[in-house]
Amino acid sequence: MNTDALIRNKRHTVLIVEDEAVNRELLSLILRDTYDVLIARDGVEALETLRAHPGRIAMVLLDILMPRMDGIEFLKRRAMDEALCRVPVIVLTSDRDAELQTLKLGALDFIAKPFDMPQIILARIQRIIEFVEDRQIIQDIERDELTGLYTRGFFFEYCRRLPAPKDGAKRDVIAVDVDHFRLVNEVYGKGFADGLLCAVADGLYEVAHEGFGIGCRADVDLFYLLLDHREDYEAVYAGLMARVHALNRQANVRLRIGVYTGVEDARPLDWYCVAAKAACDTIRGNYTRGVVLYDDSLHEKELYNERLIADMESAIADRQFAVYYQPKYDIRGEKPKLYAAEALVRWIHPELGFISPGAFIPLFEENGLIAKLDDYVWRQAAAQIRDWKDRLGVSLPVSVNLSRMDFYDPLLKDRLLAIVAENGIPVENLILEVTESAYSQNMDQMLKTVGELRQAGFHIEMDDFGSGYSSLNMLCLMPIDALKIDMKFVRNVATSATGYRMVELVIEMARALGVPAIVEGVEDEEQYRRMKQVGCDIIQGYYFSRPVDAASFEPMLKDI
Ligand code: C2E
Ligand code: CA
Ligand code: CA
Repeated sequence: MNTDALIRNKRHTVLIVEDEAVNRELLSLILRDTYDVLIARDGVEALETLRAHPGRIAMVLLDILMPRMDGIEFLKRRAMDEALCRVPVIVLTSDRDAELQTLKLGALDFIAKPFDMPQIILARIQRIIEFVEDRQIIQDIERDELTGLYTRGFFFEYCRRLPAPKDGAKRDVIAVDVDHFRLVNEVYGKGFADGLLCAVADGLYEVAHEGFGIGCRADVDLFYLLLDHREDYEAVYAGLMARVHALNRQANVRLRIGVYTGVEDARPLDWYCVAAKAACDTIRGNYTRGVVLYDDSLHEKELYNERLIADMESAIADRQFAVYYQPKYDIRGEKPKLYAAEALVRWIHPELGFISPGAFIPLFEENGLIAKLDDYVWRQAAAQIRDWKDRLGVSLPVSVNLSRMDFYDPLLKDRLLAIVAENGIPVENLILEVTESAYSQNMDQMLKTVGELRQAGFHIEMDDFGSGYSSLNMLCLMPIDALKIDMKFVRNVATSATGYRMVELVIEMARALGVPAIVEGVEDEEQYRRMKQVGCDIIQGYYFSRPVDAASFEPMLKDI
């Protein structure tokens, strides 16, 4: 409201509260060239006028001695009203004794009667209006609009000004994050998600209060809190979760808390916040733990991860990434037949040794490096398809993995088509595996891009099916050519009746969609037998072969 006035440079309105006509006239005369003037003859009228023009009055000039309701009483009433107490008051007085009392009641300044120095009066009014407006602007960015917590910048600023704790006492930083917030937003709607953030913020505000702390909302669903050291973070967690449950008992929402104990001046606070966040990220999607403490092993792990990220580009140039192949066998007939292979990347690091993709793919997915690596793997795989065709006369389709990030590239289809064309292989021989969770994250965009890829002739396999959150409705809309069932289904198939029934159900879904069901992670004879029995079409797993390098794969090509 006041910010508005400032931006538009509109004339401000001043309310004169004065019972003596002469004084009213005099003040009006002084003010009217610069301000719009409203008049009240006592406290009662002043309150009425303020309420009748909410947000409009920029300043009240208040006489103290008045009939009906005097200035003191007016100030008391104003202090109790949240809207009114924001309007600044200058007291008009000739009585110095009243000054202290009115100051305590929230008046900001005084103008002495009689009014013989118009320029000074105008200057004072202007200065106060500006001051109040500036403060309002600061408050607007100081506080996060939704939750009322500090914004990130102000949090760091206030923490910096915090005096050091007494007697070597420790301080902690905690990071609080909502697990799968994007999904919560989609599933339960923005209203619930906003309420959730406010509930967390309220809880943290209370914790901050108890522990002489400062808190902020640092990102959409990320909060930081700097506070005196405490041990009972499980209780803090329980308290926050109770607030979440109070919103909606059924909602499947989890928070995560990462704690760094012993914040020092040695590093910038930022570093400790990142550390607490890193701790908190180690339990992403983990339903058994809500609180995790940062420790040195985590630090080691971070250093290791940083190293991987730093080395990635040169590793591509030095061809340290090797593409391994794992066969997929069609088990519908008498004898298993080689159906395709999946290209899986490995990093043979000159100093760190053999690194599995689980260690670096998620890292590269986080910072976008994955697009470059995927491109490299796709090229290798396409060249391999061509090589087998040329040397051994076999056309074996090979599937490659696409990450969610790859779909941000508007040229994805063109790039893939170029790779296929450069290697002179049929489009359908380069199969694209897209993980189910990628679909659920940006459904419309995914549907469109995947549709275009299929139009161009690519075959699409939905990877890790059953691990994500796709609804049945989504599944029916999804243009796919095969369903790859997540490994966890196999784990239970031989041990429990429900496990078996689950696989049956998923295979029925594939049938309903008219696509083959591929089961991953079949390791032994028993699992293989069950899979065959349940009607699964294609199998990929250690039972047939682990992923191996291209040369070791060649003997399997005779099974085609
Ligand atoms: P994924 O796409 O689900 O690949 C299947 C994973 O299951 C592979 O792990 C494979 O070695 C493993 N696997 C296959 N059969 C069995 C079995 O019988 N038992 C067990 N326990 N595991 C089995 P890997 O090679 O470690 O790859 C892990 C993940 O890394 C892949 O999961 C995929 O999501 C990702 N990845 C691998 N290569 C690439 C790539 O070039 N690009 C992208 N974006 N992701 C890749
Ligand atoms: Ca895959
Ligand atoms: Ca998979």
